[in-house]
Amino acid sequence: MNIGVLGAGTMGHGIAQVNASAGHNVTLRDVDPDIVEQGIQSIAQNLDGAVELNKATPEEAEAALERIEGTTDLDTAVSDADLVIEAVPEDMDLKKSIFADIETAAPADTIIGTNTSSLSVTELAGTLDRPERVVGLHFFNPTHILPLVEVIIAEQTSAETEAFAHDYVDELGKTATTIRDFPGFASSRLSAMFSREAIVMVQQGVASVEDIDRTFRIGFNMPMGPLELVDHTGVDVNVGVLEYLTEEIGERFRPPQLLRRKYRAGKLGQKTGEGFYVWEDGEIVGVSGEDS
Ligand code: NAD
Repeated sequence: MNIGVLGAGTMGHGIAQVNASAGHNVTLRDVDPDIVEQGIQSIAQNLDGAVELNKATPEEAEAALERIEGTTDLDTAVSDADLVIEAVPEDMDLKKSIFADIETAAPADTIIGTNTSSLSVTELAGTLDRPERVVGLHFFNPTHILPLVEVIIAEQTSAETEAFAHDYVDELGKTATTIRDFPGFASSRLSAMFSREAIVMVQQGVASVEDIDRTFRIGFNMPMGPLELVDHTGVDVNVGVLEYLTEEIGERFRPPQLLRRKYRAGKLGQKTGEGFYVWEDGEIVGVSGEDS
């Protein structure tokens, strides 16, 4: 298939990689030519890593890279695409304008996927003349490693589009779940609930930041504790998600005071060097003073 990927940032380049590795021709488009270039470089590095780990042969890696074309031109990315996946920033107005562009430039039967992690796919689809071809394809970060894709079914998504999405995810060698379009889908809602409860437990003095994360990691065999995850994704992002889920679902998602305090203090996690942990060069080097 021909796949157009819009946005070459964190998610877009990963989505381009897994599609090319599965044998699809990919056109990766960003508005910024430097980001297109960086995205393709990151893909090349990831593919080299796959070769080192014996997950791909050098020939397979090279062939995958050759199947990816970078561009800043929308027409080049979508005019011949069987499937377009948008991975532009999480902003409803921006995504609506991208959807309008896709509808103008792509064939009428092109399937349109959105990688949104929280926005209403139904609202996005509602902007199109043919909304039945829209589906959420929620890939996880890092996309070339994590095998889950949430297939988000909007009110307008047709049975054919849903079946297409499942076959497509299967062919990528990933696992699809079927999730109705509902705030937080399944993954963001579950993750928000775990993180929120962990923060409340720190507030209550139940255990230290490290022991709460150890409980989750070692007790439940998870790769990362919920507080470390908050630092990774960003305290600001977590406040935003919890506020949205409080409004849409209920009080049980209200952001805890401790999270708000960190947000106001600019302690946003890994990206600012301090959140629940203290970070240096992407590594945890200690626990934030106020929580230890
Ligand atoms: P990002 O900021 O890393 O990348 C977005 C890219 O889109 C940027 O490079 C930007 O230049 C580009 N862009 C902006 N306008 C554009 C346009 N009109 N056409 C083409 N490109 C354009 O963001 P991201 O983290 O990759 O997130 C993208 C989407 O994926 C968001 O909806 C986000 O919620 C979702 N998502 C993110 C993660 C994650 O962990 N980062 C996980 C799952 C889903």
